[in-house]
Amino acid sequence: MSDSDVVIVGGSMAGLQAALTLGRARRRVVLVDDGQPRNRPARHVHNFLGQLAPTPAELLASARSMLAPYDVTLVSDRVESIQPVADGVPRFKVSTRQGGQWSARSIVLATGLTDELPQVPGISQWWGDQVVACPHCHGWEVRDQPLAQLAIRGLPARGVQRALLLSRWSNDVLLFTDGDELGGEDLARLAAAGVGVRTERVRSVKQHAEGLDLVLADGEAIVRRAVFVVTRQHQQSDLAARLGCRLISDGPNAGGVGIDAVGQTSVPGVWAAGTTANPALLAIGAAGHASTVAIAIHAALLDQDIDTAVRTYP
Ligand SMILES: Cc1cc2nc3c(=O)[nH]c(=O)nc-3n(C[C@H](O)[C@H](O)[C@H](O)COP(=O)(O)OP(=O)(O)OC[C@H]3O[C@@H](n4cnc5c(N)ncnc54)[C@H](O)[C@@H]3O)c2cc1C
Repeated sequence: MSDSDVVIVGGSMAGLQAALTLGRARRRVVLVDDGQPRNRPARHVHNFLGQLAPTPAELLASARSMLAPYDVTLVSDRVESIQPVADGVPRFKVSTRQGGQWSARSIVLATGLTDELPQVPGISQWWGDQVVACPHCHGWEVRDQPLAQLAIRGLPARGVQRALLLSRWSNDVLLFTDGDELGGEDLARLAAAGVGVRTERVRSVKQHAEGLDLVLADGEAIVRRAVFVVTRQHQQSDLAARLGCRLISDGPNAGGVGIDAVGQTSVPGVWAAGTTANPALLAIGAAGHASTVAIAIHAALLDQDIDTAVRTYP
């Protein structure tokens, strides 16, 4: 079993940035990633300063290539367990599916989220292409075109909020409420923003020369250039839960791992970065957050190093 300062679980935007910051601080880092970044179905990554719409794979390959000068070991594998080791200071044994084992003084969980898509036939087929979730990521490319926002039945507020947001990119937005009736205040706000409302359920989504056809129960087909959906998000890994980290159940970070201002979870030595802790972050935000977390980890390790040195100083 090899020793490391930090094992990072997850090698997408957050994990790679944490590795870069810690590697440059001369920490010995192992980064384990099993290659399932959340945006992998997307054609391009938008709204990322300094990058002109790379594919998700191109952006990650470029980030990985920057780690070569540092003591960062990249491992293509899935972390299956993280065991705390009884010791004066935090220490962990990390084991992977293919039998890799590392000991670490700190863990970074950068394991990200998965999206549960609406159960409408056709939606998953076009996910990341003409079906997307985030107007800030993909709204500019379809600006001024006919757009649809799909709400989740029973959660109309999120659909309403997203449709209002989307109205900044196009004056032809239709909100499909998935069978929910909206209240008068919501209807007034949507009307004021120029958003049309359809309460019928969308039965399927099919390709059309000008985008996608949203097919309703009575067979009516409504063509839209792009379809925005509200997804339910879940942690991609249960490692945080198994380690006993506090999870957030409500508020803006609901579904995230609970952290303090610098990324420390409720379990000493275990940190969380990127969308693992802040589900709403875009790619550059996940990387930026991870940089802050990595700086705090380095400082915490340095404190431990100095304390040890003081104790053993002759
Ligand atoms: C369809 C789509 C399009 C998007 N488009 C954009 C866009 O254009 N611009 C933008 O800014 N944002 C976009 N986003 C959001 C963007 O994907 C996220 O902000 C970003 O991926 C978050 O990075 P992350 O590192 O936090 O997590 P992730 O990218 O989800 O990475 C988590 C990594 O951890 C790995 N992992 C998980 N568990 C384990 C384990 N046990 N062992 C080893 N590895 C593990 C996964 O394989 C994955 O590689 C999009 C999202 C989606 C769904």
